Amino acid sequence: MRIAVFGDIHSNLEALQAVLAHAQENHCTHFVCLGDIVGYAADPKACLDIVRDLGCPVVKGNHDELACMDSSPDNVSQLATEGIMHTRRQLTQEDLDWLAALKFVRNVRDFTAVHATLDTPNHWGYVMNALDAGASLSYQHTPLCFFGHTHVPRYYVREAGVRSYDGWDNIGIETGKKYFINVGSVGQPRDGDWRAAYAIYHPAEHDVVLHRVQYDIATTQQKIIDAGLPHRLAERLAHGR
Ligand code: ZN
Repeated sequence: MRIAVFGDIHSNLEALQAVLAHAQENHCTHFVCLGDIVGYAADPKACLDIVRDLGCPVVKGNHDELACMDSSPDNVSQLATEGIMHTRRQLTQEDLDWLAALKFVRNVRDFTAVHATLDTPNHWGYVMNALDAGASLSYQHTPLCFFGHTHVPRYYVREAGVRSYDGWDNIGIETGKKYFINVGSVGQPRDGDWRAAYAIYHPAEHDVVLHRVQYDIATTQQKIIDAGLPHRLAERLAHGR
């Protein structure tokens, strides 16, 4: 069994399609989505339909939550607000109800999935260092937990203390340790690499491998501009920021 773990798609259809094709070529049989299907880019409806049709475990992200709230978003950037308003115009009531019903945390086999943190999953805190990760790890009852939200692939290991690892590409899972693993972002990476990021977990081999996948970024950028969304949302994709 090989499990593709992916999130922070943010309505980037070309990146999502490239990641799922890559996962299928690499014999993934199961999928887990870490949330933020919508927001920012032009194709929330197509992305939501694809993820829903996978029938896989999905957790709720902050943009998924914002999309199905009645009020206008506050405490978010202007760029995020524009993406949310676009998302609301594209989705049906059924789509919004599906997003609203997503859970914050899912336990899947021997691991946990969450969008932001396990200590306060509905407060959308950003895990930026070992201290933040430690707070989440104290609520983690499985050897592995996958998360997203920062759009930066980085992982944390708790043994005696908590250690942080940047820019990972392969993790060998050792018994007795706990791993809190950020798989990066499919649709809007922010680690300086424009390519879509996701991970494949292979339980029998005790390893997790991060993959970077090229996609047709020019099409995604043109769709953002054609949808009347801010040009900055198209430009940032090329910079991986
Ligand atoms: Zn996100």
